[in-house]
Amino acid sequence: MDSNLLKDILHSYHIRITDTRLQVLDVLLHSKSALCHHEIAAALKQYQIDKVTIYRTLDVFEKKELIHKIATKDRNWQYAIRLKKGKPTEADHAHAHFVCNRCGRIFCLPVAGYNQQPDEDMINGFRIMEKELRFHGLCPDCASSSKPKNRNDE
Ligand SMILES: [Zn+2]
Ligand SMILES: [Zn+2]
Repeated sequence: MDSNLLKDILHSYHIRITDTRLQVLDVLLHSKSALCHHEIAAALKQYQIDKVTIYRTLDVFEKKELIHKIATKDRNWQYAIRLKKGKPTEADHAHAHFVCNRCGRIFCLPVAGYNQQPDEDMINGFRIMEKELRFHGLCPDCASSSKPKNRNDE
């Protein structure tokens, strides 16, 4: 991807530009589904970036709200770029997550009307700090193929 565009994105989120940050952003931008740390590291194998640096990079991205993390069933995290409407830097925080029953990948999905849901922070004494709408089913790849697809094959 055009490295100027990657730099522009980091710049607009007030994230200092480093090679690793550009590389991690590139991987996340080009993935259809959310990725775990391991998958990001695998995609960047050629650069030999150490694990801690990738974790720190993801941490910075998350704090600056360029990406968000999604909890998986097995209590791991997957990371995804925040959904954009139109411009690459315009974040849409309200969206749903789709978990594929077959390949296990997690996708961010825009949901019409999700923003219109009542925005209470407290229900019966429970303080809500995060809301997530999650769907389960078959992703387009799995729905169109009869063979189970293993996410490790990618
Ligand atoms: Zn699938
Ligand atoms: Zn998401």
